[in-house]
Amino acid sequence: MIEYGSANNSLWQQVRFLIWNPANLPALIAVVVLVAATLFAEHITESSEAQQERSALQNKATVMAAKLQAHMSPSIELARGLSAMISTEPDIDQEHFSDLARNLFHQHSHLINIAGVPGMVVKMVYPEQENRKVLGLDLRKHETQRELALKTRDENTPTLAGPVALIQGGEAFIVRYPIYYDDKVVGRQFWGLLSLVIDIAEIYDHTGLDEQSNVSFALLGRDGKGENGALFYGSGAVLASQPVEAVVDFGFASWVLKAIPKGGWQAGTHRTKLIRLVAALAFLLIVIPFLFVGWLYRDRLVHLRERIIRDHALTDANKRLQLALDASGIAVWEMDPKTGIAKWDRRFLKQFGLDPEGKDHSDLQALLTWLPIVDRDATLDAIREALKSKGRFRSDYRVAMQDGVQKHFRTVGSFLKDENGGRRLVGLNWDITTDVEREKELCLARTESDERNQELEEAKARLEALAKHDFLTRLPNRRYLDEKLTGSEYEPSLMSETLQMLKIDLDGFKDINDSFGHAAGDIMLRRTADLLRSAIKEGEFAARIGGDEFVLLCDSAKEPSRPETLAKQLLSEIDRPIDYRGRTCRLGMSIGISSGKDAFLDADKMLSNSDLALYQVKQKGKGGFEVFSQPLYQRVRQERELAEDLLRAIETREFIAHFQGQYCAKTHNLVGVEALVRWNHPRRGMLQPCEFLGLAESLGLTSTIDALVLDQTIEAKAFWEKRGLTVPRVSVNVSARRLGDADLISKLKKIDFDWRSLTFELLESTFLDHSDTQVAANIRQIRNMGIEIEIDDFGTAYASIVSLTHLLPHRLKIDRELIQPVINSTDQRELVHSIIQIGRTLGIGTVAEGVETMVHADILEAMGVDVLQGYAFCRPVTAERFLRHNKERQLGKIGQSGRR
Ligand code: C2E
Ligand code: CA
Ligand code: CA
Repeated sequence: MIEYGSANNSLWQQVRFLIWNPANLPALIAVVVLVAATLFAEHITESSEAQQERSALQNKATVMAAKLQAHMSPSIELARGLSAMISTEPDIDQEHFSDLARNLFHQHSHLINIAGVPGMVVKMVYPEQENRKVLGLDLRKHETQRELALKTRDENTPTLAGPVALIQGGEAFIVRYPIYYDDKVVGRQFWGLLSLVIDIAEIYDHTGLDEQSNVSFALLGRDGKGENGALFYGSGAVLASQPVEAVVDFGFASWVLKAIPKGGWQAGTHRTKLIRLVAALAFLLIVIPFLFVGWLYRDRLVHLRERIIRDHALTDANKRLQLALDASGIAVWEMDPKTGIAKWDRRFLKQFGLDPEGKDHSDLQALLTWLPIVDRDATLDAIREALKSKGRFRSDYRVAMQDGVQKHFRTVGSFLKDENGGRRLVGLNWDITTDVEREKELCLARTESDERNQELEEAKARLEALAKHDFLTRLPNRRYLDEKLTGSEYEPSLMSETLQMLKIDLDGFKDINDSFGHAAGDIMLRRTADLLRSAIKEGEFAARIGGDEFVLLCDSAKEPSRPETLAKQLLSEIDRPIDYRGRTCRLGMSIGISSGKDAFLDADKMLSNSDLALYQVKQKGKGGFEVFSQPLYQRVRQERELAEDLLRAIETREFIAHFQGQYCAKTHNLVGVEALVRWNHPRRGMLQPCEFLGLAESLGLTSTIDALVLDQTIEAKAFWEKRGLTVPRVSVNVSARRLGDADLISKLKKIDFDWRSLTFELLESTFLDHSDTQVAANIRQIRNMGIEIEIDDFGTAYASIVSLTHLLPHRLKIDRELIQPVINSTDQRELVHSIIQIGRTLGIGTVAEGVETMVHADILEAMGVDVLQGYAFCRPVTAERFLRHNKERQLGKIGQSGRR
């Protein structure tokens, strides 16, 4: 839309519009006329005034010229007369000249001197006294006066020189007259010149030239040259300001007097001011009203243009609206709610398939009754409601068309205020059948897609469930457990301080798998899963997280003993034997329990805590449960540290052998020595075997330790013998692991030693547990090498007599638990005695360990034990101390030679 004088117009454009506007034309014409009239009036007044001023001044100039002439003329006349006198008396001398001049001189006050210049040289002068200086001046040689003087002589004409600067000071005009005389012989002769020097100051003074207060004069015509002469009085500015002039004529010479008013020509200035004032008044009275009228006119013009533009825009918009309505098929209607009289356009009727040209449908009531509206009551209600509420109105309705098809329509309306303040309901009506149908289709499609989504969701859930469960046992898997612990999109986290985790590990599962096959293993796992499923309550959770590893989650908030109860229940139920294809299988369970509190609500920590508790159960020998606790954690941590130390200790040779002597029961002579390992721990000091051997065993390090001890024992034997202590036998303890080592023999054979003086102490339990072929082979080889065998801790593991006959050890070492009570208990004595008897029967010797007192020693000797070992004789000590102890002992024995 075009906008007139819109904000887009620049300021310059607006200013231009204000100026270049036809509405300003009358004002412009008025201005032009006013200015022209003012100028004309000014011109007229000025020229008449100027004329008056000039003529007045002209009068003054003429008077002044006359005065000048009048003051100069007597002197000139005097000169003329005097020169005529001299021409008759060419022989005149100074005296006579003075006489002549004197009389004249005093009548003419302007004269400075009168000089006679015969032959162009000043010869006489009056007054003589004051002007003696000029005498002898040759005018022909005078620089400035020469020319005029010659002219006077040659042209025989008087001249007026000056103003001339005088030798005696001041300025003067000089009138010179030529003097010729008639010689009787020669005829007319040049006598010389007569000069009259006139005081300029006197002239100016007497004429009043200097005293003129309101006129500026200038005199032109130096040396009497008139208009052509130079300016010799007054300022050059006078000449340039259109002066009036008057001629001062001396006949043979002339001056031109020029004059202007002082301060310039004033003509017209006052009148002009008046005229301009009148013009300004006229401007106010004529041009301003003109401008105002012009402004009003222009304003009207602007509004007119704006209206035209608006009208055009409105027409355009209307056309476009019609076009849009035609194209869209939307009908427009309106209604006066007071009268109920309605109007509508042709499209309204067409929409219902009615002929707009046909019958009269202009009555809305009639039309509404006549139109087959399907839900008539509801539609009419909506219209009535809108009329009442006077708000916006919208209604969808259906019309059964003549061809039987139902069409959907929508009508919307709202109230408009018209110019008279009345209200009209104006609305639109259009066919929404296609929209409604499309909506229906969309709705259908949406339902279908919802159903499909539902199916997909279900499939996804099934997949999700599969992914989170163990295929074999159908129990939740590790992933699901993690979700339960940490929470996920689908699962809220169960983690809390009271959450309890039971980590379950099956004992003996590997054996079943190995001996009955994987099918049997699978059955066991399924059975375990069933067991867990039936054990847990609502809200508890069971998962299989690895081969034979399971996890149960329960909460101890309501029932603090719940985890233990569950563990006990499971342990008792797993204990029941199962029949697999006619064979009996047994499974066990180890359970580690930990809580969310101990794990500081961290899922990984909780799992590792339960693992730790489980590890503890395994350490203790499986088949039970253990609850994680900080002390347990500390212990295990210490063990772990110790394990690290142990590995290092092997490298750094921190293991050292101590030695305990073995003595003949009868003579108490040293017959052998047992090496016992000690760990010289850098921080914890000397550690006993019970403090680290279990750990070393679990780390598989006992073999290595045994080997180290053997090396040190061999070294020690050589050490003692070098120092004169004979040790007939040395014994070392051999662990089950070393006995089962396939490389044992080859390792031994690398050592250079008399094997017949070595005894291996084997634990009774060692060879009872292992009906191992490797162990049997090693024992055979050991025997062959000449190493003797002792059964250590005999009497604790119930070795059968049969096994003894198979192994045939050299000695039985009766456990100290059996030895110690022999002094008090007869039963115990009986037991030890029967062991000695068995030995005797099988040809096997006996050693008693833990002999703490001599009372023990005596009793045991009496019972027939061969060798004694214990604190009564010697504590386990280093090789050096052992040497010292036994040397002292030998000396002591020698000292008390009475004893056997
Ligand atoms: P063990 O083979 O039965 O060793 C005898 C243990 O009895 C030693 O304990 C010894 O100090 C202690 N003992 C000796 N006389 C007496 C006594 O009069 N009264 C009492 N109460 N105890 C006495 P130790 O040195 O603590 O050794 C413990 C066990 O560690 C040994 O029992 C042995 O089974 C094992 N062991 C020691 N050294 C080694 C080794 O180098 N290798 C292997 N595999 N095991 C060893
Ligand atoms: Ca031993
Ligand atoms: Ca023992």
